Amino acid sequence: MTLKGKTAVITGSNSGIGLGIAREVAKAGANVILNSFTDSHEDHQLAKSLANEFNVSARYIRADMSDPEDCRALITKAGTCDILINNAGIQHVAPVDEFPIDKWNAIIAINLSSAFHTSAAALPIMRKAGWGRVVNIASAHGLTASPYKSAYIAAKHGVVGLTKTIALETAEEPITANAICPGYVLTPLVEAQIPDQMKAHDMEREEVIKKVMLARQPSREFATVEQLGGTTVFLCSDSAAQITGTTISVDGGWTAL
Ligand code: NAD
Repeated sequence: MTLKGKTAVITGSNSGIGLGIAREVAKAGANVILNSFTDSHEDHQLAKSLANEFNVSARYIRADMSDPEDCRALITKAGTCDILINNAGIQHVAPVDEFPIDKWNAIIAINLSSAFHTSAAALPIMRKAGWGRVVNIASAHGLTASPYKSAYIAAKHGVVGLTKTIALETAEEPITANAICPGYVLTPLVEAQIPDQMKAHDMEREEVIKKVMLARQPSREFATVEQLGGTTVFLCSDSAAQITGTTISVDGGWTAL
């Protein structure tokens, strides 16, 4: 599969899943635009190292996905956008009646509204180019719920709904829109929680992963950022041209329960 000549804009891609996806699409030949709300030397170095490793063009563009104007400016500054991967996301855990209003607003803005704004800016560019792919990183929590994650779950269900709407509005064009729904993924953030969980439960690494952290993931294995990148590359391929408006779970069987 080659994505040579295509440009992928990946929101929230200076770490974790976004960076993993950026690496896989770059490996498939796409030029990449990395993004987060910071503007550090490391952010720009990340883009340089991707460009060198995969012989593609790569840039880092700062844009805060909680700000509608920044979301739209990211696409304008990218100049082109054949593949839009809406990945930026945050989490906060609290019961509904104690959920801080500012956290609710931030999660809805970053995890849901940003995908609306970037898509609104990118679709005319895709139409002009005569080809496009929107890949939204939702979650198993876009299809099921858990207590204490109201804003995240509302946002991720919203992302699935937004994906279906974009798919219907572009159905007669060579543009597709799909959502990937990961279960628990081994990112640096998750890796960092393992020592604390081992201490809290007095368990060895493998035991705490399988019995505590992956209690809802029947495979008892984390999904990997490479697998999510591979799923994204597939959705960008010609084989996936008739796959639109749907969700693909990468969750070790979580949503089959
Ligand atoms: P992460 O914290 O490593 O990555 C989140 C990314 O979003 C970072 O690059 C961060 O800088 C960026 N970001 C945060 N706020 C932003 C803002 N205001 N503007 C721009 N960028 C911003 O976490 P991750 O696990 O890689 O999560 C990536 C996506 O995958 C999220 O949407 C998350 O909900 C989803 N997801 C993660 C898991 C998991 O187990 N890790 C499971 C299902 C879904």
